[in-house]
This record gives sequence, structure tokens and C-alpha cells, in this order.
Amino acid sequence: MKQAISEIEHELRDVEDIMSTDDEDLKMHGFSEWSSVKLDTLPIAVAYPRNTEQISAIARICHKWKVPIIPYSGGSSLEGHTAAPFGGVSMDFVYMDRIVQINEDDMDVVVQPSVQWVDLNEKLKRMKTGLFFPMDPAPSAKIGGMISTNCSGTNAVHYGTMRDWVVNLTVVLADGSVIKTRQRPRKSSAGYNLNGLFVGSEGTLGIVTEATLKLAVVPENYSVAVVPFNTIHDAVSAATHVIRKGIPVAAVELMDETQMRIVNEGGTTRPRVWKEKPTLFFKLAGSKVMLDEMIQRVKGITESHGSEDFEFARDEREQTLLWSARKESLYSLLALRKDGEEMWNTDVAVPLSRLADIIVASKEEAASLGINACVKGHVGDGNFHENITYDTTKPGEFEKAKTAVKNMVRRAIEMEGTCTGEHGIGFGKKEALELEVGSGTILFMEPRESV
Ligand SMILES: Cc1cc2nc3c(=O)[nH]c(=O)nc-3n(C[C@H](O)[C@H](O)[C@H](O)COP(=O)(O)OP(=O)(O)OC[C@H]3O[C@@H](n4cnc5c(N)ncnc54)[C@H](O)[C@@H]3O)c2cc1C
Repeated sequence: MKQAISEIEHELRDVEDIMSTDDEDLKMHGFSEWSSVKLDTLPIAVAYPRNTEQISAIARICHKWKVPIIPYSGGSSLEGHTAAPFGGVSMDFVYMDRIVQINEDDMDVVVQPSVQWVDLNEKLKRMKTGLFFPMDPAPSAKIGGMISTNCSGTNAVHYGTMRDWVVNLTVVLADGSVIKTRQRPRKSSAGYNLNGLFVGSEGTLGIVTEATLKLAVVPENYSVAVVPFNTIHDAVSAATHVIRKGIPVAAVELMDETQMRIVNEGGTTRPRVWKEKPTLFFKLAGSKVMLDEMIQRVKGITESHGSEDFEFARDEREQTLLWSARKESLYSLLALRKDGEEMWNTDVAVPLSRLADIIVASKEEAASLGINACVKGHVGDGNFHENITYDTTKPGEFEKAKTAVKNMVRRAIEMEGTCTGEHGIGFGKKEALELEVGSGTILFMEPRESV
């Protein structure tokens, strides 16, 4: 590995600070506080390329010396994706953060991997394009990592996942060769769907150095509705009913009673106090007339599932207020953490008809194990997250958290679901992936010298 590093430093000697072996830098890239998996190995260097050619040179040298490369964009992935179990070179694209081209008429944008989606949307807004990029994972996530995890978020029920928004990719392969997956039309049936293959491949098939992404039109108006229910089953069946009626909601999110209590206790949305019940958050989008009709239809459906209350926003200020509980949910959890407590944030997805069953079963198991867990879900997609807080100073707590996660994943797979709806496999879900797809499929994914 050291030989590879000195060869990279020699070949790219004209590039300032191309490699770093600073201890803090290694730790920042190899260790993630967010992650379910915390390994005690680190990369042995961090590379800071400025363009595709430099990435190609680094890949060629690492390939020659059989040194692993771990691409690093926003570092917000949750399953040990950026960990370095075999050392190797972490590759940070921080200097490749340019929005290369905005093609307003074509409704697409060409970006480098280190562009943050939040910055992209701010720029599109400032330019008054009337366009936006609809994926919304962690605010710190960047395009390279978002492509590689096939991320999504609250908007997926309406806009789909990252895979649906990629037009083309420029990718450096393991041996340093560079390919572009296709040209710039919004659709194409030419050849294999290489975009589909690279999206979600978590850096295992190549390094994304540039991407063309589709953009969506900003809806004319939004409204937000908040609806508490007596049970998870009532809330989930109301959400499913709304979707089955074809009401084009922009988002429908669930937070359980524990998560609602945590938002109240966290105090970040004060003076507002929320009902501590399973609650649905709807985001509705469209023209004024469409919105009024949607609000009435959603209200009618939620009432038929026993909702006690239906609050909707009349203006932007109320929208922000009503959505604030959803927005602040994770930060409230973090704010209430005590010394020695860690958080395990993981996701699964199941067919819609099984969602309420798996949420209830997972909550019951967490209660019987005596661990603190709360649930929130992108219920429109059958996807939910369990946030478990465990005390590292108490013997056995980590093992209990592990049991709860393992059983939740097993349950999801038994219900014909998946071990992850949006966070990806990383290190944390490797065994789960095999359980889900079987050893034959895993074998098909393994690298081969030649086919
Ligand atoms: C507070 C919080 C909220 C979140 N909410 C959501 C959510 O709602 N929806 C959701 O989907 N996710 C969510 N996530 C998870 C996370 O934000 C996403 O997985 C995101 O897509 C990761 O992007 P990143 O830039 O941080 O990637 P990183 O963590 O830097 O990398 C992720 C993976 O991509 C690889 N990679 C990075 N860059 C490249 C590249 N250029 N080429 C090839 N491979 C690359 C890495 O090696 C790694 O395997 C959340 C995380 C947090 C902390």
C-alpha cells in the first residue's frame, strides 16, 4: 500500500496535497458516528483528486498494487459504507464540487460528485429556473454517494428513487479506464442499462466522476396535513387507502407515538406540542384548486380510518410549522442522547399490505427486550426506519439492539420485503443481503477475471 501511495504521489507530484496521511483525516474518513458499523481499521491514506484523469491515474496504480479504493462523498451513509476494513485509499471528491451545466430547457443538470443536493436546489431556486432535484436524503449527502446508494427520502412516493433521475454517468473503472454510460436524452433503449447497474453499487463497480441528472418542475403550491391516529394499523391503512385512491401525494410520512413524544421532549418545535400518537404527515402539491380537492379527499379517507383530528396548512408559515416535527425528528433524538448512548438507525421495506404488521411486531420486540426504539416511515413506499438508542456502558444493551435489528430484517425478508429500502448494504447488511437474495445471486455479483 505504501508503494502505491508513493507512486501516486510521484505521478501526481504537480497536484498540491493530492494524498494525506494525517491521523485526523484518516479517522474522519474511515470512522462514522452515524453508522451502524464501527470498525477499528482505517484507510492508510486519503486522496484528493481534482478531475477524472487524476482519479483514473490513482485507480490504475491502486489496481496494479491491489489496493482497495473507498470513494467518499458526503459521508452520511449509515451502514459502514465508507469504512476501510482492509486499509486502502479513501478517495474524497471535495475539490470536485462544480455544477458543470444547467440545461433549463432540457430539464437536466451536469454535476461533479461532490455537489450537495441542498446546494444544487438552492442554486436552481436562486436562478428562478422553476426546477428542482427531488431526492432528499441527509442534508449533507452529495451526488456521488447518493447515486451509489440509490438514495431516496420523503419524496420517493411521488418521484421515485435516485435510479429514476440519472441520465448518464462518467465512471472510472477499477483498472483506471474511463467510460460514459450514455448521451443526454431523457430516455434511451440503446444497449445494457449501465446506469441501473452503477446506481446503488456503493462504489464496488467504479467511481462516478460526473453525472447528468433529470430535474423536476417545482409544484405551483404545497400544503401539509398532520393527522394523528389511535393505532399504527389505522395510520398505515389510511396512508395505503389514500395511495390506492390515486391521490398524487408528494409525500406521506409516519411517526410513531414514541417519536412524537421525543419531538415534544426535544423542544426544537416549541411552543408547539404534538399529540403523542401514531401520526401521518402528508405533503400535497398542485394548483390551488387541486390542493383544495386533495385536502378534502385525504380528510375524508383519514376520518374513515378513525383519525381524531386533521390539521392542514393554509400558508407557507403553517406548512413549515406542521412539517417541522418530521424535519426535527432525528435531531430531537440526537439532542436527548445521554453520555455513553449510541444510536442505530436502520431501514427495511415490505409490500404495503405488510407494513403495519412489521412495524407493530418490531415495536413489540423492542419493548420486550427493554430497549429504546422509535419508528418513522416513508409509508407510501412500505419503507420504515427504526431508531434504537442503546447505552454502551450497560452490558448487553448493544447485543439487544443487534437482536432487534437482525429480527426486523429477517421479518421483512419473510414478508417478501427487503433488508434496506434506501440506506443500502455497506458493511452492516452484508449477511442480510445474502439472506434476501440467496447465495446464487451473491455469486453472480462477485468479481470474476473473465466471463
Ligand atoms: C440525518 C440523516 C438522514 C438520512 N435520511 C435519508 C433518507 O431520507 N433517505 C435516504 O435514502 N438516505 C438517508 N440517509 C442516508 C444517506 O444520507 C444516504 O445514503 C446518502 O445517499 C449518502 O450520500 P453521501 O454523499 O453521504 O455518501 P457517502 O456516505 O460518502 O458514500 C456512500 C457510498 O457511496 C460510495 N460513493 C461515494 N461517492 C462515490 C462516487 N463518486 N463514486 C462511486 N461511489 C461513491 C461510498 O464508497 C459509499 O459506499 C440519511 C442519513 C442521515 C445521517
